Amino acid sequence: MTERTLVILKPDALQRALAGEIISRLEKKGFILVGAKLFRFDEALCRRHYAHLVDKPFFPEIVDYMTSGPCLAMVWQGPEVIAFVRSMIGPTNPLEAAPGTIRGDYGISTRKNVIHASDSLAAAEQEIQRFFPEGLADEQLKST
Ligand code: ADP
Repeated sequence: MTERTLVILKPDALQRALAGEIISRLEKKGFILVGAKLFRFDEALCRRHYAHLVDKPFFPEIVDYMTSGPCLAMVWQGPEVIAFVRSMIGPTNPLEAAPGTIRGDYGISTRKNVIHASDSLAAAEQEIQRFFPEGLADEQLKST
């Protein structure tokens, strides 16, 4: 089934100039980029996006990390793209992520793991709406 997923390149990915490499991997897999924008997290947005982690003792570290620089939010489209991208990024802890996965190749800690991707259809729909409330470029182009 054709799906859309929300991917965020986290501040370390942009600081380390990994954006091109990561985008290239997703393009080479055959997925289509249908939305992209640079933005910055603030604490309120961290609380919404990581609502399931707000009560964890390490939540302040997540806020420090995610607000440390600009991020790149993207929407990628393709058949089963949600599960494929999760498999391409690997598990949360880069030590458990196999070489060849994005986190396995570039992540340096459970916190600084370079990339976010939606983990279910419901999460993808909610996250795309959260980061692209104005809609996606291809929809805007169609209507012009
Ligand atoms: P995922 O990003 O793989 O979907 P989670 O939703 O569990 O994983 O975690 C969200 C983000 O919070 C992680 O990608 C990571 O940046 C950070 N994080 C998760 N667990 C920890 C932890 N134990 N210590 C520090 N940061 C963490």
